[in-house]
Amino acid sequence: MDSSSTDERASIVGVPLGDERIREAVRVLVAELGEDPTREGLAKTPDRVAKALQFLTSGYRQDIDKVINNALFTVDYSEMVIVKDIDFYSLCEHHLLPFFGRCHIAYIPRGKVIGLSKLPRIVEVFSRRLQVQERLTSQIAETLAAKLDPLGVAVVVEASHLCMMMRGVEKQNSSALTSAMHGVFRTDARTRTEFLDLLRLGRGATVFGGDSGHQTDGAYA
Ligand code: ZN
Repeated sequence: MDSSSTDERASIVGVPLGDERIREAVRVLVAELGEDPTREGLAKTPDRVAKALQFLTSGYRQDIDKVINNALFTVDYSEMVIVKDIDFYSLCEHHLLPFFGRCHIAYIPRGKVIGLSKLPRIVEVFSRRLQVQERLTSQIAETLAAKLDPLGVAVVVEASHLCMMMRGVEKQNSSALTSAMHGVFRTDARTRTEFLDLLRLGRGATVFGGDSGHQTDGAYA
């Protein structure tokens, strides 16, 4: 597939500490699975896996305050803010296999809003870790509740889990749905219903401001 030029090897220089141990662990794993870790197609696999895993778990090394950094604004706005269909990819901590899907976030500000582009970044910080879907959902909600002190925050995550799909544990097309509701989303059924109804309105990255259903394009800018 790829040449055995020294260029790719050279590009390994500068990867984070710990990589050599990950590479060695992958070599052991490949051998224990009955393969020859030195054959051509597998020779660079430990390098690739180490890099991929460092990236897929980079959320551990990110500071949520730096991610939010200067993106909190004081505004006189207390209608529901929704960002739908934030794609995410995570690793299930039970099998180290991917689970992935979409995250939907809503909150009702209490004098403070966050830049819309920060919401996908917050999702990344918590999804690029070894996770379970329930904890991913609640960590996103709790972070927004703590940083924004909103009247309420709601997070819904829908995901497909390869550990279920590939092993045939559940139907191939089944997805798991989790939610975390804080503040008025928990206490007020009408607010919660409004949010859940808006989620059923088609697909695509769309932001709804207030209860008018007004759509704003470029939500992720
Ligand atoms: Zn799993």
